[in-house]
Amino acid sequence: MTQPKASTGQQPQRAAPSSDAYDVAIIGGGVVGLATAYHLSRAGRRTLLLERAELGSGCSGGNAGLAGPRYSMPLAAPGVPRTALRWMLDPESPLYIRPRLEPALVPWFWRFWRASRRAQVQRAIPLLRDMHRLTLKLIDEMHTREPLPCDLTHNGQLMVYGGDRGLAGGAADARWLQAHGIPSRLLDPPSLRRMLPPAAPDLAGAVHYTSDVHLNPSGFLTALADRARAAGAQIREQCAVEWIERRGRRIRGLATACGMVRAGEYVLAAGAWSPQLARQLDLRIPLQPAKGYSMTIDAPRDFPHLGMLLAEAKVAVSRLGAHLRFAGTLELAGMDHAINDRRVAAIRRAVRRYLPGVPQPPPTVAVWHGLRPLSPDTLPYLGRPRRYENLVVATGHSMIGLSLGPATGMLVTQILQGEPPAIDLRLLRADRHG
Ligand SMILES: Cc1cc2nc3c(=O)[nH]c(=O)nc-3n(C[C@H](O)[C@H](O)[C@H](O)COP(=O)(O)OP(=O)(O)OC[C@H]3O[C@@H](n4cnc5c(N)ncnc54)[C@H](O)[C@@H]3O)c2cc1C
Repeated sequence: MTQPKASTGQQPQRAAPSSDAYDVAIIGGGVVGLATAYHLSRAGRRTLLLERAELGSGCSGGNAGLAGPRYSMPLAAPGVPRTALRWMLDPESPLYIRPRLEPALVPWFWRFWRASRRAQVQRAIPLLRDMHRLTLKLIDEMHTREPLPCDLTHNGQLMVYGGDRGLAGGAADARWLQAHGIPSRLLDPPSLRRMLPPAAPDLAGAVHYTSDVHLNPSGFLTALADRARAAGAQIREQCAVEWIERRGRRIRGLATACGMVRAGEYVLAAGAWSPQLARQLDLRIPLQPAKGYSMTIDAPRDFPHLGMLLAEAKVAVSRLGAHLRFAGTLELAGMDHAINDRRVAAIRRAVRRYLPGVPQPPPTVAVWHGLRPLSPDTLPYLGRPRRYENLVVATGHSMIGLSLGPATGMLVTQILQGEPPAIDLRLLRADRHG
């Protein structure tokens, strides 16, 4: 069977044949692992992906589906640590830290604080912008090849502000991003209501980031998995990696719930679960699981096909085909899967405030939750840690993993092919915190 060409348009350099059953084994079936399996298999590598539960069951399946260069400013940005300190003990604020004794939180915050300096953010913006743009290009290429079943919508994205202070901050962010070539336009209240008729009449305005997109994440994951399989990848669900066997500077195999797996190279893409696997390798990846929730209802027929952030409340709203999804909150509570009703209520309240005519999710609607892999500088870990010859780390995508995931899959593939990555990844070194 002829393999389709990789989407870089470059002829991939085939790796030396290995005696292992697979060239590459990927741990984790979220958007990062699946995008990696997709690109690797299309490049002709014998690829196996291992997922402990179902594909997308971590953080990737129920997120808000917003993607694009609007998210080029890291969450760790000037002024944010001060706001975060104010919010963190209020159980109904957008960012909450459940009081608990966890010594790892102290260095995590110290790094978050340091990463928020202007100079550091200034370095991160072009890198994130280029990754988001690469993602949009890759998604469009996939869609052109064969339409994606994920309600891909190119209407840009709105940052909607309730108050003048918020809007002034949003306009300043927009100017900062414009200086990096990320287009946007300011909407006054009448223009906002023309674009978004359900907007409350007293909102201050919005910034429209015109080059962003939104899509249904679960449909997108299904397409990635189907196309990776069609290109030869094997995907095993309900197959947790339990132990990583190593010798010296090489990983030798994975002891899994479905037997021993051996491959020439390994990719760690286990999202918020990555630190515990990394510890087996004496690697420090100091992620915090950051819980968020989403609720999905039938969309009112006339709700515009838009993705948006209700900015002060940090609640995302996206029209996904016939559905409307509300998503938000960031809760640092460890590997905890409990649904916190007060925080879910805060999402409902934000929707009532900004979009008063829009129906509330009925109490019977299922609340989805996901644990974001939140790194202290809110940037991914991406690359080969120095300690190992045959491992690539691809995790820590924090709030923007759907938007960075497809690009990550391509960049990991380039690293494994021995090609120079299309984007300078030095800021994302896998062992920068360990
Ligand atoms: C409410 C909410 C809204 C969001 N909205 C957006 C958005 O609009 N846009 C955006 O870009 N991002 C958004 N995000 C962030 C995004 O969802 C994450 O950054 C992204 O899903 C992370 O992907 P991942 O593949 O790294 O991790 P995951 O999706 O968590 O995947 C990791 C996988 O590894 C598996 N795994 C773990 N341990 C093992 C093991 N031992 N063996 C085998 N498999 C294992 C897990 O089961 C899991 O499926 C949102 C997140 C939340 C919570």
